[in-house]
Amino acid sequence: MEKDNIYDLAVIGGGISSCVFVSNYLKKGFDGRIAIIENGRNLGGRSSTRISFANKGWKLNHGSPNFNIFNTSHNKLINTFIKELLDLNIIQIDPSEIIELCKDNIHNSEISSVFHRGANYISTTSMSELSQNIITCNNFKNQIDYFFQTLILKLDYEKNQWTLTSKNGIKFKTKFLICASSLLLHKRSLDILNINQIPLRKAIPINKDKKIDKIINLLYEQDYIHRLTFLIYTKSNYSYKDNYKNKYRYFILNNLLQEEYKFERIIFQKQKNNKLGIVLHTKNNEFIKEYFKSINKVRFKEKLIDKFNELFANEKYINKLMEYQDISTMSWRASQPYGSGIPESLQVCEDHNIAFCGDWFDFEGFGRIEGAILSGLKLSNKINSLY
Ligand SMILES: Cc1cc2nc3c(=O)[nH]c(=O)nc-3n(C[C@H](O)[C@H](O)[C@H](O)COP(=O)(O)OP(=O)(O)OC[C@H]3O[C@@H](n4cnc5c(N)ncnc54)[C@H](O)[C@@H]3O)c2cc1C
Repeated sequence: MEKDNIYDLAVIGGGISSCVFVSNYLKKGFDGRIAIIENGRNLGGRSSTRISFANKGWKLNHGSPNFNIFNTSHNKLINTFIKELLDLNIIQIDPSEIIELCKDNIHNSEISSVFHRGANYISTTSMSELSQNIITCNNFKNQIDYFFQTLILKLDYEKNQWTLTSKNGIKFKTKFLICASSLLLHKRSLDILNINQIPLRKAIPINKDKKIDKIINLLYEQDYIHRLTFLIYTKSNYSYKDNYKNKYRYFILNNLLQEEYKFERIIFQKQKNNKLGIVLHTKNNEFIKEYFKSINKVRFKEKLIDKFNELFANEKYINKLMEYQDISTMSWRASQPYGSGIPESLQVCEDHNIAFCGDWFDFEGFGRIEGAILSGLKLSNKINSLY
């Protein structure tokens, strides 16, 4: 077993809520050592970027491609944060074309998708780099150790200290723990981690902490939308019909078309080498099941391209896709929470030195990046005033 890693603060998860929290907490002057422990290969979580070994040079945002802010109360906290990111050139206003497709090639004049209402922003680099840049802009003293490809399976709390144990046997000890994902509190952990008790429940038994009991009970009712994304690496001869110049172009299917084609959104992402990447999103459960059940995945993908071509058959901007370099997939079992968000009052459990952030809290932007950012900002303010 490796030597224990001892930290002042450990954060499980390296998604955008975690990065916003850590960055803002550092900005407020926190001077302890921080561990960010992430199961994936890089930061960003559900808003990250696929860097493919098989398709060198490509970077495709395979989760959330951009983000939007449309809080109604003109929340000063988030607006100030967004302005800082704009000033630092970490993000920019998304200049992309967003087209909502209806039957018979009609384009909706108003975009109904909750992902594109209000002000849309893109990373000036990639979505994974967005999370990294958010942290870097305040990590002047190099206070963070990153542990990638490290999945925490077990939590223990003893003598005011947390011990986290990863799948590969690494132990972390910390005074304060942040869970920047609901996984270790939610019933889906039983299946995903192949364990017989929710890890946080095991660490803090029932009736020991009212807030933790409440969160676990409320989360029991929260469920997740499954999404599957197909990443299409086209060949260099594939381009738009027109001379569109922006990096991204979004096509959203209205409800009727979603029912017919089973696709939700199709996002074109121009690469540095000028090739066009296409990320096709679906949240249709039958379609996703069909994909996983299909024995011949190559045939399934060929049929997918046939449908793509049928959808865009008379579309003035999109050429028929005749051949491609590769198609890979990403299955997001928990792409977005639905149901009720967890109340903000439960974000910090003072009795056990543990706190939480993520899009699963009941902030404006629940289930989206807006909510994840807001939860990270709010948490850093709360912890700063408490400790
Ligand atoms: C396909 C798709 C499209 C989307 N489109 C949009 C969009 O257009 N606009 C929008 O606003 N939102 C969109 N979303 C939602 C958006 O991505 C999320 O709301 C946001 O990224 C959530 O950030 P987070 O930090 O709360 O959680 P996450 O990004 O999920 O971060 C949590 C991290 O914790 C890690 N983790 C969890 N448990 C452990 C453990 N035990 N050990 C180690 N690491 C662990 C996970 O690997 C993950 O990286 C989309 C999501 C998906 C999947």
